Amino acid sequence: MASLTNRAKVLEQKPMSFMERLYLPAIFKGMAITFAHMFKKKATINYPEEKRPFSPVFRGLHVLNRDEEGRENCTACGLCAVACPAEAITMEGAERKTSEEHLYREEKYAAKYEINMLRCIFCGLCEEACPKDAIYMSETFAPSNFTRKGFIYSKDELLIPNPVTDKEKFEIAKGLREAQLKNK
Ligand code: SF4
Ligand code: SF4
Repeated sequence: MASLTNRAKVLEQKPMSFMERLYLPAIFKGMAITFAHMFKKKATINYPEEKRPFSPVFRGLHVLNRDEEGRENCTACGLCAVACPAEAITMEGAERKTSEEHLYREEKYAAKYEINMLRCIFCGLCEEACPKDAIYMSETFAPSNFTRKGFIYSKDELLIPNPVTDKEKFEIAKGLREAQLKNK
């Protein structure tokens, strides 16, 4: 047969010895390897009961932030949407009324805020662009879903729990990442 490189080798298949034909040494060798692995540290974990610690630079699901009084930080300036290379963010701004001062920190707020997680590449540019500390990326994964629509996260899904009415859920949602980033 023609050879392109002349590096082909003709292999000879030697006849099996008596011990090889018994197969038992090979079986015991294989079992010894399996047995040895029982005492080694496992590479796998029982997720979701067990979770691995996140890297300080891990970027997970976005969270829309509130201040300590529970007011939404976002002022609908649109900088996050402009910075987003995947064009994943959509928003509509609205003017705050006097009666809504306890709801929104700034005079303008996001009446609608959506992120399409199927477009998002979790680059973190929206977080960096925000001048109001209104959006940051948490340590949570975007859960799986059966429909494309389910991956378009609305403002209600993105908004962090209110620290005044639900402090425990607020702290869980905030996670450790923000504190780690501030300490860098
Ligand atoms: S993480 Fe990146 S891709 Fe995702 S919404 Fe923010 S800027 Fe867009
Ligand atoms: S999240 Fe930040 S950058 Fe985006 S619209 Fe709100 S205030 Fe502006």
